[in-house]
Amino acid sequence: MTITYADVEDAATRLRGHAHRTPVLTSTRVDDEVGARLFFKCENFQRMGAFKFRGAFNALSLFDDEQRRAGVVAYSSGNHAQAVALSARILGIPATIVMPHDAPAAKMSATRGYGATVVEYDRYTQDREAIGRSMAAEHGLTLVPPYDHADVIAGQGTAAKELIDEVGELDALFVCLGGGGLLSGSLLSVRALSPSTRVYGVEPAAGDDGLRSLRSGRIVHIDTPVTIADGAQTQHLGALTFEIIRREVDDIVTATDDELVAAMRVFAGTLKIVVEPTGCLGLAAVRRMAAELTGQRVGVIVSGGNVDLTRFASLVAPER
Ligand SMILES: *Cc1c(COP(=O)(O)O)cnc(C)c1O
Repeated sequence: MTITYADVEDAATRLRGHAHRTPVLTSTRVDDEVGARLFFKCENFQRMGAFKFRGAFNALSLFDDEQRRAGVVAYSSGNHAQAVALSARILGIPATIVMPHDAPAAKMSATRGYGATVVEYDRYTQDREAIGRSMAAEHGLTLVPPYDHADVIAGQGTAAKELIDEVGELDALFVCLGGGGLLSGSLLSVRALSPSTRVYGVEPAAGDDGLRSLRSGRIVHIDTPVTIADGAQTQHLGALTFEIIRREVDDIVTATDDELVAAMRVFAGTLKIVVEPTGCLGLAAVRRMAAELTGQRVGVIVSGGNVDLTRFASLVAPER
């Protein structure tokens, strides 16, 4: 299956009037610190608090009448759950979300608050993909996976499209990397709109399967990485996302948890915004690679802002 920039343009049309066109923030102080001109595409201000609304809404918009009637199923403990739940509510589609029984209470109640039915499972003894698949088969539900799906990838690509439409061509773009939906969609937009931009995927240092996959030319599977970047605790890239990433990406780099915390403090202290740990991957990499970026125009996709306040406060608090 080939996914192209035309699919991103179609997704942008479907999202109009439903997704927010998120702001692009700049900061002279951060620019001076890094020595480059930075443009932050702030998806922490997207509906439900992360870019994932884009892909989920695009995918659900494309359901036919029968799929709409039967409903959607998704498995996720994080932002994809809320994205599918909210999109389904807007479109009048019944939604079932498979979540671990020990998922944060705030996330479960947010998902239920959007009207979805939450099915709990035990993450240590049960396989969520198998549960999702069997529910799909039994009740005729359509499964929407978090990243390895053409309509999800096309939707995620609309954030980078909006960024370049607004600020013009960039020398480099940094994109958070989990399963690769955001990165592969961004690559489709960048290669069409600003082809000479160097695009970097940024993943947690504890889970560098993307980097290892790029180097080895095949999808590397890892154990769930231990990192504060809970939105990027994926174990492997997808077949569709990897095909685009291996062809188009310039490189994949990593950020440590300490670097994520430092970036989170910059967002809170200087830009005055709440960014979840995973959303800090791009800025963390930019700060580490500052010497290579001097004088350049650099885009950073800030992927989300869903972190509960107690956790946020303990992460940004001055070191003891
Ligand atoms: C899902 C998610 C990511 C990773 O996106 P992929 O498409 O899986 O690579 C990054 N940041 C946030 C906030 C997310 O929710």
